[in-house]
Parts: sequence; structure tokens; C-alpha cells
Amino acid sequence: MQAVFLPGNKQVEIRSIPVPEVGPDDVLLEMHASCICRSDLSLYYGNAVVGGGDATGGFVCGHEPAGTVVATGEAVTEFAVGDRVAVYLAIGCGVCAHCRRGDMHLCPKWKCLGFTYDGGNAEFIKVPARNLLKVPDHMSAVAAAISTDAFGTLFSACRKVGVNGLSRIGIWGLGPMGSAGVLAAKALGGQVVALDPIAERREFARKLGADLVLDPTDPQAAEAIREFSGEGLTGAIDCSGNTAAHNMALDALAPLGRMAFVGENAQTTIRPSDQLIRKQLTVLGSWYFGINEYQDILSTLSTHKIDLERLATHTFRLDEAETAFRLFDQRETEKAVFVR
Ligand SMILES: [Zn+2]
Ligand SMILES: [Zn+2]
Repeated sequence: MQAVFLPGNKQVEIRSIPVPEVGPDDVLLEMHASCICRSDLSLYYGNAVVGGGDATGGFVCGHEPAGTVVATGEAVTEFAVGDRVAVYLAIGCGVCAHCRRGDMHLCPKWKCLGFTYDGGNAEFIKVPARNLLKVPDHMSAVAAAISTDAFGTLFSACRKVGVNGLSRIGIWGLGPMGSAGVLAAKALGGQVVALDPIAERREFARKLGADLVLDPTDPQAAEAIREFSGEGLTGAIDCSGNTAAHNMALDALAPLGRMAFVGENAQTTIRPSDQLIRKQLTVLGSWYFGINEYQDILSTLSTHKIDLERLATHTFRLDEAETAFRLFDQRETEKAVFVR
């Protein structure tokens, strides 16, 4: 079968490898959709955010796949050939406290699909059955793939920030993650101000339901947030990883506000005394979601009739992987998805 590897230095290799053999607790999926994510670029450049040097080029890339079950191991009872599923990216030990709570991405022994375990950018994918996320028949494979790391991650961040009908939420960075955040925060009832320096992204966020869109580099933006939020934002989510955005968000929060860091950044500079301590803010990191949250993610998508395919701007075949990663890296695409 064809499978995509990212050995670093912006190299993209499409290799022919055997279809994986299914163990007793595994399933084999035929891939129908598999998203490219900003974190894949860490592999593309050769400095993997998960797994370090072990990840680079050693495993099939792709951590946001969806497909159809085509074979099951003999111990698998809850899934059958023909089931349509997305895949939860963290393969945990299954028995530690984090795994038992559904947070396999916190398991000390976890392996990460697409980084330290063969991932989704291939014709077939082998995963443990417990990592499958069953999706409804009316949900397309592309939407199912986007429901995991893009929408699921932002749904979880919105929850941690406490988004509800009284919330005034700021979202910084309107790539696929921030756009999914606008959808999630609106569905959970919040009023949303969405910020990005790129005009097309702001316009798209407005179409997705943002109540106010702003260019964070506009000197009037902070004042506009104050007018929008009254005494300040109740919550903020940063998807940009940008230090200026971190500071703008912390400054815009009301006392007792909550902020989630989602965009990757190895370091930042903030002012704890006036930004955190005096206002008694809660600042947290948020990454992916607990597998036990997925039912609520599906319910939210269905109740609010959210069409996640809107977030996919480009689709590619696996044999177009080099073009796909190049265009994604050059920001010529927003959410890009391999389809078959
Ligand atoms: Zn991702
Ligand atoms: Zn575990």
C-alpha cells in the first residue's frame, strides 16, 4: 500500500509498504480522509513536537484520520466490518489512571498516531479497537477527520475555559484550530470576538458565526474588545502561539477570567503581577481531548448542525502529498485533507 513519510528537511516520501497485520485487539481501516495539521510541519522540518528524533521519518504520518473498518482482530467485539469511524490519536497502555479516565494522551507509555505509531496518511491504518470513534452515517469522512484534532481540541479548550451562555470569549489565531474554536464557542453559547491579522481569515470567522472580528495589530483593537466585553473577556483561547497575542489576551481578560493556551510555542513573555496575580486569572494548557468527550463533541455537532467540511479548503490524493505539504507549509491552504 501507499504510505506517506516525513523524514525532515521538507522531504515527503511516498513509500510502498505492506498492509499492516491485525493483532487480536486491533482493527484495520481503509482510510477515506486524513487531515494535515500544523503540528505535522514539525515532522516536515525535522523537529517533531511529539517523539523528538524517534518520530522523524520513522512512522507513517497523519494523526487525524477517518475511514471504514475492513478487518477486525479475533478479540474485537464492539466493532465490525463496515463501521465508519474516526481515530483517537493517543494509543495508551489502557490500565493507568489517565487511560482509565479517557485521557490516553496523558498516559506515561502513550504512543502518538502519526508521530510514534504508524498514522493515517496511508491506504490502510491499523489501530487498537479501543481508539475508534464511531461516527454517524450522515457525517462525511472529511467531517469525521476534522471532528478529532481540529474541532475536538477546541471543544475541549472551550469547556476548560468554561464557555456558556454568559461568556464573552476571545479567540486569537484563526487558522483551522481557531476557526473550529469559533464554531465550538458559538455552539456552547458564548459571544465570540475572533482575532487574526489576515483579512480573509477574519471574514471566514465572521461567516462561521463570530460576533466581532478584529485585526490584533490594529491599535484600536484592544479598545474594541473592551467595548464588546464590558468589564473584560470571561475567557480567551490562543491558537496563534504568538507572544503578542498572549499578552493582548491576558490584558483583555476580566478578573477571574480563564485562558487556554492551544497554539504551540516553546516560550513566551508575560507580566504575572498585573496580568495574572492581581486579576486572579486561571491560565491553562489544552491539548487534544479526552476520548470520553467525543460523545459530547458529536452531540454538539449534530444539535447545532455544524458542517465541519466548511473548514477543509483543499483535498489531495496520497500521491499528491509533496504538493499538499508544500502548499500547507506556504499557507496556501487552511485545513488540507487527504481523501480516497
Ligand atoms: Zn492535529
Ligand atoms: Zn496508560
